[in-house]
Amino acid sequence: MTNHCCQAMNSHVNVLCGEHSDVYACPDTLIGFSAKFQEYGLIVHDGGTSSIIIEFCPWCGRCLPESQRERWFDELERRGIDPWEDEVPAEFQDARWLDSLPRNQRPDSTPDHP
Ligand SMILES: [Zn+2]
Ligand SMILES: [Zn+2]
Repeated sequence: MTNHCCQAMNSHVNVLCGEHSDVYACPDTLIGFSAKFQEYGLIVHDGGTSSIIIEFCPWCGRCLPESQRERWFDELERRGIDPWEDEVPAEFQDARWLDSLPRNQRPDSTPDHP
């Protein structure tokens, strides 16, 4: 499981709700976390699946990880996979694809980022 910046974020991302299996349908879930893109968003409860991307944690104020959305598409392209046409490999459905990157290219190991 991904470790988030603080306990509050952890509990908001992992809301355990027995009523709704879909986070967008659950009014108790405010934060959506996309593991594959490393993006955090405020869920817009309008019946759809939209959310507003946030860059800072609303609770502890820390800067959240940089979005990997562009790199996600770049990596798929590098492998010759078209995410709209082809089947997206399982490791690209969550954060696992980030582990397959060379160590120095991972978002959490940038040298000038203590
Ligand atoms: Zn619910
Ligand atoms: Zn936090």
